[in-house]
Amino acid sequence: MPIHILSAEVASQIAAGEVVERPASVVKELLENALDAGATRVAILVEKAGQRLVEVSDDGAGIPQDEMALAVERHATSKLRLAEELFSIRTLGFRGEALASIASVSRLTLDSRPPGTTVGARLRVEGGVSSAVEPAAMPAGTRVRVEDLFFNVPARLKFLKKESTERSQMDALVMRYALAYSHVRFHLVQDGKTVLQTSGNNERREVLASLYGVDTARQMLEVLFEDQDITVRGFISPVGLSRSNRREITFFINGRWVQDASLNTAMLQAYHTLLMVGRYPMSALFVELPPEDVDVNVHPAKAEVRFRNPDRVFSAVQRAVRRCLLAYSPVPQVVSPAGWGQASPRQAGFDPAWEMAGGGAAALPDGEPDSQAAGREAASAEGLPSGALPLLRLVGQVGNTYLVAEGPDGLYLIDQHAAHERVLFERLISQQKRGRVDSQALLEPLVLHLPPRQAAMLGEKLPILAVLGFDVESFGPATFRVRALPAIFTGRDPLAALRAVVEDFEEDETPLQAELEAQIAGRVCKRLAVKGGQTLSPDEQKALLRDLETCQSPRTCPHGRPTMIHLSVDLLERQFGRRGAR
Ligand code: ADP
Ligand code: MG
Repeated sequence: MPIHILSAEVASQIAAGEVVERPASVVKELLENALDAGATRVAILVEKAGQRLVEVSDDGAGIPQDEMALAVERHATSKLRLAEELFSIRTLGFRGEALASIASVSRLTLDSRPPGTTVGARLRVEGGVSSAVEPAAMPAGTRVRVEDLFFNVPARLKFLKKESTERSQMDALVMRYALAYSHVRFHLVQDGKTVLQTSGNNERREVLASLYGVDTARQMLEVLFEDQDITVRGFISPVGLSRSNRREITFFINGRWVQDASLNTAMLQAYHTLLMVGRYPMSALFVELPPEDVDVNVHPAKAEVRFRNPDRVFSAVQRAVRRCLLAYSPVPQVVSPAGWGQASPRQAGFDPAWEMAGGGAAALPDGEPDSQAAGREAASAEGLPSGALPLLRLVGQVGNTYLVAEGPDGLYLIDQHAAHERVLFERLISQQKRGRVDSQALLEPLVLHLPPRQAAMLGEKLPILAVLGFDVESFGPATFRVRALPAIFTGRDPLAALRAVVEDFEEDETPLQAELEAQIAGRVCKRLAVKGGQTLSPDEQKALLRDLETCQSPRTCPHGRPTMIHLSVDLLERQFGRRGAR
């Protein structure tokens, strides 16, 4: 075929394909337009997962009648004029492509009336072909109706996922925008059912409740971090709350929802060793930085951005999250079981009226600022103060498994195994980070035989083991010789440690080298830590307690389980009926 220029129709379908990949993309673009128009209310109606209808109405600035026809033209925008302005974009849109793209693959009706004008206007476009603009009676604002999406692109229709998948994509999208723009009232209806309704009263924790449920929303930790001109705000899950995938890690950059692998990594690194392997946090972080430091013109769907200084943003996110986690790192409080004494007053602050109406829909009461404020306070007061432990006085050992200690604020029960795991782990990792793990040579090298699969796995891990202070070499088929181990494990069984490295080892999807090292260190420390049921001499007990006090994250083991339970003086007094008993 000779080279030729594509017909306008083909070119526009190709371009549309980049912007409108699926029904959720329509919702996203229309939502962004409404937000750019300064809407305070946005209503979204969806039928048949967006294939039948997506309709977005807003009460924003509207489109003057004489600009209606232009609005659906490609590269027509009111948000950008000069190329330089691409680096000072403060709107979500700027490409002038969305309406044109959507209109080329659907039957689109655009109704709009700027506030202050008396008559609105209506424009219809079918598969890219516009009809004349006519007057229309309507409330101020804009309504875009997109019917029969992809009716003229049957191939695209075939590629759509199951309706339920598309629907949940849209729900997730709208909920995230509702969270980011918590001062805007959102109403999302799918097939006649309200899925989301927010109050627009700027309470993000309220919107979180519709995203994750009341209980989870209450537990989410609030992040507030500033480093010069970068601020990081939002919510992250506490270490006790996690998911099996990364889908709930959300970032907004200057009000724009973006996918960014490196920010995800910053997030995961901040949780490093605090979550069990294979578990991921939930988060919604809102990063604000000067618009000139972000290039938003990277991706047709505007789902990616580039930073002028990626390391600074990465580090801000990581520090923000880490600091928040350390500050809240909880010692689980013993809460009286129901019917056995009285519920913790901290729990009482959260208003069950927040409970959502059926089907995950949030029916948020309009008012009730008091109870909501109390709920927020209860949530953020929990688990304070910071990571460091108070000085503890050893009382003794119980059941050969728990240490009992007294602190200024009550009694601590410490799981000796989990505590020792934490101590060993932090020492090993800190030595490894300094690039010098103290190694202890064995008097006699030991020999380890493994089944072939495990042997192969161990073979791959030898470089990491070397970094961690193990001297292991391959020695004949499926056989290894161990000459030295980290000095902190002196006197413990090196072969058990190596077996732990390869027993049912399943790697994370894309483990970073550092993650892998920590994973392996965690496994070894777990295997070599003192066990529950093991008698410890009073000196050993004291030493363990002192060592734990010096840890950076003394309150959880490297796998995220608590190392201790705290019985506060307050709780003891209530349990004994000295205070507040009814
Ligand atoms: P972009 O948002 O990139 O400018 P669009 O194709 O999404 O491009 O929209 C084209 C133009 O139509 C916008 O620049 C804006 O002026 C106008 N417009 C679209 N939607 C709305 C709306 N909901 N309210 C007011 N104006 C709108
Ligand atoms: Mg737009």
